[in-house]
Amino acid sequence: MKNNCQDCEGLGYFTDVISTGLSNPNDPYHEPHTERCDTCQMFDDDQKAHEHLMATSWSYAIKEHIKTGLESPTPYKVIPYKNGIGIKKIEFIKPIKSPSYSQPATRHAWRVFLYLALQPVVVPR
Ligand SMILES: [Zn+2]
Repeated sequence: MKNNCQDCEGLGYFTDVISTGLSNPNDPYHEPHTERCDTCQMFDDDQKAHEHLMATSWSYAIKEHIKTGLESPTPYKVIPYKNGIGIKKIEFIKPIKSPSYSQPATRHAWRVFLYLALQPVVVPR
């Protein structure tokens, strides 16, 4: 499932895209996200590219699960296996006195940490 597109090197998508110049401060595209390649249009839209990666890349899927877990009303940690293939366990994060996970800044820092901890990403070919 590769093409000859020069822009995306035949993958059809870009990961960890950070958008600039967004007018809405709550736009989810301020966060690193996946976008389809508009040059070759291998995927119908950004969501389709995201779904493809969720289904084919454990490293991508785990990062997404971690993000979802930390953003959940009852935050939880997703702990992958050491080899990065699959999820070993999920731990609920109890409300902590200080520093608090309910602080958006702390939560964001956590997310960035976990995000980087799971690099490098193995991109499916
Ligand atoms: Zn492309």
